[in-house]
Amino acid sequence: MSALFAHPPTLAPTTDGRAVAVRRVFCVGQNYAAHAREMGADPTRAPPFFFTKPADAIVAGPSVPYPSRTANLHHEVELVVVLGAGGTDIPADAALDHVFGYAVGLDLTRRDLQAEAKAAGRPWDMAKGFDASGPLGLIMPAAEIGHPAAGAITLDVNGATRQSGDLSDMIWSVPEIIASLSTFVALEAGDLIFTGTPEGVGPIARGDVLTARIAGLPTLEVRIGA
Ligand code: MN
Repeated sequence: MSALFAHPPTLAPTTDGRAVAVRRVFCVGQNYAAHAREMGADPTRAPPFFFTKPADAIVAGPSVPYPSRTANLHHEVELVVVLGAGGTDIPADAALDHVFGYAVGLDLTRRDLQAEAKAAGRPWDMAKGFDASGPLGLIMPAAEIGHPAAGAITLDVNGATRQSGDLSDMIWSVPEIIASLSTFVALEAGDLIFTGTPEGVGPIARGDVLTARIAGLPTLEVRIGA
């Protein structure tokens, strides 16, 4: 049968001139100990927890609108894993075989709505999954960059460094994240996983320019529009 209201896939460009059709977008919460502490949580090796954004939250920039319904939009710079193969119950020691590549991403967050949701025991969707909430840099194939497990991850706002960490500070590694997530859902090629943010999250305003960097990956620069 023909589909009513068919929508084109969200395309995320790669460094070699291709594009990934984004299927699903998963995000890991509190995966760096210092960020977990700044959010008032106790960083532990408790199993990772996940939330999602809609696929069409992924945007390339160069600007994104300041979202409605918030007075406290926050930046979170993150390593984003792009899957090239899927599966369920993927063992950690085979997980990297499922990775197509990596990119720098921003998990933009309506922190005020997230705090309200946490206090009320309600879902985070409207705090995390709003339109254009996932700016993404160019995806670099693992064939080029390998599988970065260490390296600087930073976020500047208007040229001033706000977040600075190292990928090796992740509580849960990329293979462990893929293994855990694949016990909850059947992963497929085109799925994206935001792997958490280091400490230093904070508010951004209209007109701010965000520069997100991870060693070895293309820089993501995004201007917050009106
Ligand atoms: Mn995040």
